[in-house]
Amino acid sequence: MDLHLRYNQPKQTVAAGEVIFGSPEVIVMAGPCAVESRDSYLACARSLMEMGVRVLRGGAFKPRTSPYSFAGLGREGLKILAEAREATGLAVVTEVLDPRDVELVAAHADILQIGSRNMQNFALLHEVGQCGHPVMLKRGMAATCEEWLLAAEHIRASGNERIILCERGIRTFETQTRTTLDLSAVPALKELAPYPVVVDPSHSSGKSELVGAMARAAVAVGADGLLVEVHPDPAHALCDGRQSLDPAGFSELLQELRRVAKAVGRLIRDEKRGAHSPGKETQLLKIKQGVANDDY
Ligand code: PEP
Ligand code: MN
Repeated sequence: MDLHLRYNQPKQTVAAGEVIFGSPEVIVMAGPCAVESRDSYLACARSLMEMGVRVLRGGAFKPRTSPYSFAGLGREGLKILAEAREATGLAVVTEVLDPRDVELVAAHADILQIGSRNMQNFALLHEVGQCGHPVMLKRGMAATCEEWLLAAEHIRASGNERIILCERGIRTFETQTRTTLDLSAVPALKELAPYPVVVDPSHSSGKSELVGAMARAAVAVGADGLLVEVHPDPAHALCDGRQSLDPAGFSELLQELRRVAKAVGRLIRDEKRGAHSPGKETQLLKIKQGVANDDY
């Protein structure tokens, strides 16, 4: 492991608004792959907020393997994300593809996502390193943990320590899944690095019927958060419908995840307490104090 990586650093929490990654709470981030239209995104965001989701996801700038696939709504998508944030009180995570867009994306979102295909886009890493926002750095699909941590180091060395690592699957010889979710990376990285580690069971499996099992496993191995694709109508999604859960399926999964979290001494926020519910301050205080308890 490279000497520039810091050993034995105390664990670091990363706050995005009221949400604290690396606390006893497992942070659930969810939403469609891409922002497709204002009305559908806002409706989806509201229903996710009611379920207890903490962070909304949705791509405005989409990296697509084929240049002919839907590449997102761009600026219009960012405006919709900002409106959803306003309407729900939830934080927003979205991908930034181009160093020239970092400021623009940061003006509309709370967490900047660096996608798998850009994990070693050093110009982009340096740019988000100079931005004060938390950065969710996805693992390159052919990157070792060491390369991933060195990519994080580029962000840190540029001045930003607010880093969240996201395991999203790596290329192996297996073809049953889109990539192979490397769940061992979660405890391994928690040993090596001070950053919170979250898991994306959607892009890794590529199949909605596998997402629940991998999400439950991720919570069991100690993930600090989950990034799940949820679409109101997966069959007609413009992007990644095959791996997207519908809201009913996701709501069911959340109930299971709460039970798994509790069994491993963590918690996932209850759906009855939305972002604007009473008792929010108390809940926040408990999280800040590192208290995981059942009545949260
Ligand atoms: C995404 O989360 O929207 C995405 C494109 O994921 P990845 O970079 O992991 O493929
Ligand atoms: Mn996607």
